Amino acid sequence: MEDRSSLGEQAERRASELAALVEVGRDITATLDLHHVLERIAHHAWRILESDDCDLYLLEPDGRTMKAIVSLSPYAAATMADPVYVGEGIVGYVAQSGVAEMVNDMLADPRAIQIPGTPDEEPQAMICTPLLSKGQTIGVMALNRLGERHFVQADLDFLVSLAQQATIAIENARLYEAARQAEAEARQRADLLSALHQLALDVSSELALDRLLEAVVRRTLDLLDRDSADLYLYDPAGDCLRCLVSISEWPAVTGVTLRPGQGLNGQVFATGQPIVLDDYWSWAGAEPAFSPEPVGPVASVPLVWKGQVLGVLEASGRKGGRPFSDAEVNAMSLLATQAAIAIQNARLYDAARQRAQELSIALNQQREIDRWKAEFIQNVSHELRTPLTLIQGYAEMLNDGELGNLSQEQRKPITIITNQAQVLQALVADMLAILRVEAQAMHPEPTSLATLIQAAVDDFQVLVSQSGLTLETDVQPNAPMVSADQRQLRKVVDNLLANAVKFTPAGGRLTMRVYPQQGGACVQVSDTGIGIPPDQLDRVFERFYQVDGSIRRQYEGVGLGLALVHEVVEGHGGWIKAESEGIAGRGSTFTFWLPAA
Ligand code: ADP
Repeated sequence: MEDRSSLGEQAERRASELAALVEVGRDITATLDLHHVLERIAHHAWRILESDDCDLYLLEPDGRTMKAIVSLSPYAAATMADPVYVGEGIVGYVAQSGVAEMVNDMLADPRAIQIPGTPDEEPQAMICTPLLSKGQTIGVMALNRLGERHFVQADLDFLVSLAQQATIAIENARLYEAARQAEAEARQRADLLSALHQLALDVSSELALDRLLEAVVRRTLDLLDRDSADLYLYDPAGDCLRCLVSISEWPAVTGVTLRPGQGLNGQVFATGQPIVLDDYWSWAGAEPAFSPEPVGPVASVPLVWKGQVLGVLEASGRKGGRPFSDAEVNAMSLLATQAAIAIQNARLYDAARQRAQELSIALNQQREIDRWKAEFIQNVSHELRTPLTLIQGYAEMLNDGELGNLSQEQRKPITIITNQAQVLQALVADMLAILRVEAQAMHPEPTSLATLIQAAVDDFQVLVSQSGLTLETDVQPNAPMVSADQRQLRKVVDNLLANAVKFTPAGGRLTMRVYPQQGGACVQVSDTGIGIPPDQLDRVFERFYQVDGSIRRQYEGVGLGLALVHEVVEGHGGWIKAESEGIAGRGSTFTFWLPAA
């Protein structure tokens, strides 16, 4: 009878065990609420195994600490209060061995430890199973019966089956959590990318600094979904950080200034390191002067450009609001980097625009001066012509005795007057010729540079020796003929030679070279004179440009010679350059090239 009844009982229990397993299986697929599923599992175990306690522990990521997350027991509070550790007590022992245990006499088992707040002297029986995922313990489930009510192997087997279900539930929940987190991270990354992209668009379309800064602050607020964001820039003139943009749920701090090192943002600026606080008011440096009352979590990052801190970007939330995550602070730093580059670009752009404006004004003034100079010379030359012709005419008449005989004392000054009037007339003619150069027609013909140079050298020989200089020529016979207007080309060579003579003190040496180069020939005039400062080499070809343009200038001239040379050479399809180290005695070299005929 007894056997039959116990058989009946066994069958009944087996049936409810199976029903419990099916139900747990259904629960696992129906919900992703881990705590709920684990509670149900514990409850089934507790009910079917008629136990007094049922505790379910999970192993923490440190691999050592185990916390009870479900405890069905009159001592649940005590059980859940303190963790147990792997290797300690029977629960810890099972976690370590990974093998289920049945201990029917706990008082006799040396591994047993007493959890504070639970009964110790009472006889107890326990079954305990690890929750194993891929051979690794992820938790432990333990059941106790008080008094002399022992467990049997079938109880342990059932518990092991339930533990397998629990493991599946935990794995599912963890996978789901990981997927959810990955999705949240992906969304955050997408938001960040979109904010950076938007900011890049702002930057490319907006070069005005104030509007750009406002865009940076707005993007920060949108991205982080906080209550307040401020941007401070360093002002070197006042040695302070000034809040230029403040968008806030509470009174904005636009215009507020901080000394470097002062307050949270001053410190971020001074150290170049971000500061992130879960609660501003529990920070040692918190001061009502620097932050409004409602502020809770704060993150402040430096705006760094090429290692230089330009300012600070700060975001904050209301007291008790969620703290800033690492990902959010990283996102802010990225925005800050982008902003720093944009700020620097805007500043460079402003400086460039201002410089361009100044240059354009200076250029216009220069053009105006050139025009006045040209006009003035033209007018003066014209006006001088008639009186000069008259002076010369009368002086010649006097000289020739047409107005009566001259005494010996009178003759000498009259000759000087005649000669100097001639010099003046030649100068006036030159000035007019130079101003007319553009209007003159060119008559190019095949020209031998060797012949042309030799003629110039012959003509200059007297002047050169009078000036105490020597002139050498080096004409390479393979230099090709060039196509040139000979009269104009002579003007070029004469001007270069005249300058070489003029700017070389006595004892100096002049050299003229002719040599073939790249489909044409070069003529080079070098001297050992005073030289030209390298930064002015390009300018000497401008009309009226003189290196020493002062009134007390020791050299004669009006600064038109090289302008004429340049125009003629380019008019022939050639080029000209000036070279000099700007050192007296090392001289200058002018080289021009003309295409072969
Ligand atoms: P200028 O009538 O003053 O000689 P140019 O146009 O011929 O005018 O030359 C312009 C300026 O270039 C000169 O005033 C002088 O300062 C400089 N320059 C030209 N040739 C030489 C040279 N060989 N050595 C030094 N300076 C020179």
